[in-house]
Amino acid sequence: MSDALSRLLKSRDWILADGATGTTLFNMGLQSGDAPEFWNVDAPDKIRALYSGPVDAGSDLFLTNTFGGNAARLKLHDGQDRVGELNRAGAEIAREVADRAGRPVVVAGSMGPTGEIMAPMGSLTYEAAVEMFHEQAEGLKAGGADVLWVETISAAEEYQAAAAAADLAGIPWCGTMSFDTAGRTMMGLTSAGMVDMVEALKTTRPLAYGANCGVGASDLLRTVLGFAAQGSERPIIAKGNAGIPKYVDGHIHYDGTPDLMAAYAVLARDAGATIIGGCCGTTPEHLVAMRAALETTAPAPRPTLDQIAARLGGFSSAADGTGADAGAAGAARGRRRRRG
Ligand SMILES: [Zn+2]
Repeated sequence: MSDALSRLLKSRDWILADGATGTTLFNMGLQSGDAPEFWNVDAPDKIRALYSGPVDAGSDLFLTNTFGGNAARLKLHDGQDRVGELNRAGAEIAREVADRAGRPVVVAGSMGPTGEIMAPMGSLTYEAAVEMFHEQAEGLKAGGADVLWVETISAAEEYQAAAAAADLAGIPWCGTMSFDTAGRTMMGLTSAGMVDMVEALKTTRPLAYGANCGVGASDLLRTVLGFAAQGSERPIIAKGNAGIPKYVDGHIHYDGTPDLMAAYAVLARDAGATIIGGCCGTTPEHLVAMRAALETTAPAPRPTLDQIAARLGGFSSAADGTGADAGAAGAARGRRRRRG
């Protein structure tokens, strides 16, 4: 195992990942509806600043600005012919920032969903999805990414297609899904279902797997407990949103404080996660607090759901989607995918 993430996983009990990409870019002036990947070429200084935020805050791993960098997503901005260029540029800037850190920092090449529905329900075939992810993976690899980071996936078939693309590109990978619909992914997968799917992959399995985004930080930890209950030895990733989403002036706002995310980080580790970061709303200020808490808080037994709710707030749905009352609370149904 010679890749940078495997080395880090071997030498450390926990790894601090990064926080939000979208939140930071919007604060830098990105307009809703713009493709942030263009900034990898048009505004490299902003992307350097984006990456420096988590690195300076103490993150051991951060994601490239390439979440929507596949041909299907870029086509919405007439950028489908620039997949290789935009992904390579996003990874090159990341490589430069990571190598200047003075300590091992892993560059994780972000690959978000295609935004299309896979066959047979939709029109995107497995083969076409593999090809799309492979094209993106080659760009990220050429730019110097250490691993691919597949994220915010809802369909098992799309996760499997990204896994096949990683094999074609010959690069290790990690992959997280978003459990945003009453404890399940939008396509109905439960935490237990994801573990079964990951361990049954016919391709190279991920170095780590887990959950990102979803609804609130509490919900994400309930999903992590679901992973851990399956007894898989594979490292678990927890990248939860900063607190509980609230609608403010027509957009979703996360008001979780650094103190709350520090508590979340420690609970995530105690719940069984090894790679711990934030998603929407998580800023470098949150990451500093998370790192300090992980360094100074002794490990504790696996938290109960009551302990998680008491510290981070209640759950957005009554059940985690695995039991008989799955779907009883469908409040999250129909929510749209967002970028980290
Ligand atoms: Zn998010």
